[in-house]
Amino acid sequence: MTQVRVFETIWEVCQTQDSVLQPLWDYMRLNHSETLRSPLFPVILTVASYFVLCVPYLVCDMVGKKWPAIYQYKIQPNKLPTTAMLLHCGGVTLYNHLLLVFPAAAAQWLWRPPVPLPEQAPTLLELAGGVTANLLLFDLQYFIWHFLHHKIRWLYVTFHAIHHNYSAPFALATQCLGGWELVTVGFWTTLNPVLLRCHLLTTWMFMVVHVYVSVEDHCGYDFPWSTSRLIPFGVYGGPSKHDVHHQKPNTNFAPHFSHWDKLFGTHADFSFAETQ
Ligand SMILES: [Zn+2]
Ligand SMILES: [Zn+2]
Repeated sequence: MTQVRVFETIWEVCQTQDSVLQPLWDYMRLNHSETLRSPLFPVILTVASYFVLCVPYLVCDMVGKKWPAIYQYKIQPNKLPTTAMLLHCGGVTLYNHLLLVFPAAAAQWLWRPPVPLPEQAPTLLELAGGVTANLLLFDLQYFIWHFLHHKIRWLYVTFHAIHHNYSAPFALATQCLGGWELVTVGFWTTLNPVLLRCHLLTTWMFMVVHVYVSVEDHCGYDFPWSTSRLIPFGVYGGPSKHDVHHQKPNTNFAPHFSHWDKLFGTHADFSFAETQ
């Protein structure tokens, strides 16, 4: 009942006519216009968000069992990443960034003109709706990509197998990806907000939220504040669902929500961390 009330309140705030985001947007566009208009900004935002959001989970992994209050939420207890595993994922991430992300960013910087900043901020409803729509669209695209890359052996071995090196995921394994997968994911997260005609603030918010939920999917912990617990009725999978995909790779192909796996019969039950 309390959860329903929270959603009702959010909905009421979202429906207000004047955007509560206008003062923030005005401050951003009047004081940091050059930075925000740069084609490099979304790249720097997502790369920085990734490393910042990985840090708390890395700390949890490094402290491990010495921190029982946190360790009780580990989805696969006794399966902490070793230094070699962290270094391997860090190395793959660095390789991908040097070879793909930075050249793509440099190309954007050289050839893409600075983007114009609109005067109006999005309403909270537009922001929340835009982020949700982007997550839903990405969920469908990645579900299809992921399904095909597991069902067609050549695609799996050539492009996706590297991501399944570890059956007990941890935050840095999020970007332990082949180049083709990283390019595909980057392409959709850049194109989708344009297709959905999102405001720039909505686009950037989606990019950060998407990084957050992707890292959370792999973090290896099912905390009380995990998205699958905050979003009711089992609509959202979150870390437990994706953890099961790494244990049983022919199940749970959708990265975020539950509906596509339920519709296509690939849903595998995931149990929440034992101690609640
Ligand atoms: Zn994964
Ligand atoms: Zn997979």
